[in-house]
Amino acid sequence: MTDGKPGDGKAPEERDEIREEEGEVLRCRSCGAEIAAVEDICSIAGAPSLQHFANPEGALWEVLTVRHARGLVADVQAYSSFTWFAGYSWRMVACAACMEHLGWMYEAMGSQTPPRFFGLVRGKLSGG
Ligand SMILES: [Zn+2]
Repeated sequence: MTDGKPGDGKAPEERDEIREEEGEVLRCRSCGAEIAAVEDICSIAGAPSLQHFANPEGALWEVLTVRHARGLVADVQAYSSFTWFAGYSWRMVACAACMEHLGWMYEAMGSQTPPRFFGLVRGKLSGG
């Protein structure tokens, strides 16, 4: 038995690239395109901004909600079934630069506020 702390050799510190000129941004993990500002992360209907949802196929998604996003293309088809946010329809959105699926755009079907927001898959973004 020893009381010594494990690990004599210190691992070199890994440095993340952080650009702070315009505030922190969330980027597409696949290609690095800017997708959203950290300051646009928001809460919808009082829920935490990071939530876990399962789709009807049973896949689990870690979803970050943001007020604004850029560099995305939305599918033309909007769906109102299986929505994770009551009163909102959804479309799939992909990175405009690399076409990786990054999440969903939600649009109010009634007078909900905000009228539009995005749910982004946390694991497909870097930064923040
Ligand atoms: Zn991309």
